[in-house]
Amino acid sequence: MNKIISQLKKSKNIFVASHINPDGDAIGSLIAMGLGLDWLKKSVTFYNESSIPAVYRFLPEINRIVQKLDGKSEYDTAIILDCSDIKRIGDDAFSIMENIQLVINIDHHITNTQFGHYKLINTSACATAELVYNIIQSLDVPINMAIATSIYTAILTDTGSFRFSNTNISAFKICEEMIKVGVEPYYIAKNVYGKYSAGRLKLLNLALNSIEISYNGKLSIMTLTQNMFKRTGAYDDDIDGFINYARSIEHVKVAALIHEQSNGKKKSGCGKFHVSLRSDGTVDVAKIATSFGGGGHYTASGFSIEANLADLKVNIFKLAEDL
Ligand code: AMP
Ligand code: MN
Ligand code: MN
Repeated sequence: MNKIISQLKKSKNIFVASHINPDGDAIGSLIAMGLGLDWLKKSVTFYNESSIPAVYRFLPEINRIVQKLDGKSEYDTAIILDCSDIKRIGDDAFSIMENIQLVINIDHHITNTQFGHYKLINTSACATAELVYNIIQSLDVPINMAIATSIYTAILTDTGSFRFSNTNISAFKICEEMIKVGVEPYYIAKNVYGKYSAGRLKLLNLALNSIEISYNGKLSIMTLTQNMFKRTGAYDDDIDGFINYARSIEHVKVAALIHEQSNGKKKSGCGKFHVSLRSDGTVDVAKIATSFGGGGHYTASGFSIEANLADLKVNIFKLAEDL
């Protein structure tokens, strides 16, 4: 921690990034960290390779996030947030690691590969935003409304509104402090959970209908094909939270959500899929995701795969035998 603080104090041009297909923690941590460094008069680039999901576009300074590197800027330090692996930044990961001398890895994933020169990895943290909050405090940066809104939203969403197993006392303490700064919980909740498109709800209907349960009742699979997105007019980033329905079924220990990627169709009957996994807390799904080349947390993980959908389902259902 001390090394990170002194490095940030002496840095001038800082590159801050978080993972592709960002969630509330990836975006909130990115904005909070970036704005904190802004206050210290650093030149800061806020970077995320993906477009910002509609629900997070209300966040302050959201337009500071760029999707492309300009190729001209020279950075002395990179801060990589909420990424278990440097590759999670996306296609520019390699050039970032090649061209930036000092990389700081700030994360809370159990599968973190320990990349980078300085690390702040705490798997007990409720969100990467908790660690960003600690850094901002150590830098003596005052928490303004924009930083508070970003941190609050990150913690709210990463803990599933204080319901998931990563919910800890810091989640409440930090959010209480953010409310004291001026954050209105109702305003954030309305934006994050109260402005869904009709297409998203129609897609949820199809998603619920797609749920299949293993013979022993311990594993459920929800499937979303690109055809379903076309039929409902929903977007790929509209599926946040869907998997929790498959997870909340009585007796289900592990839920999988198979999401066919756009441009994923392959000639050979194969497609590109992202698979999200969630457990009820009795099964380590980070381990399962790692065995498929992905990663994540004990109770929430994911991986990407090229496969035939029917075969993929068979392979996932096989997992039920060991549950
Ligand atoms: P998701 O599958 O997007 O719902 O993500 C669940 C958790 O697993 C998040 O904490 C992700 O950061 C992590 N995760 C998802 N996909 C991958 C992947 N391909 N590699 C490493 N971690 C992943
Ligand atoms: Mn994340
Ligand atoms: Mn996170």
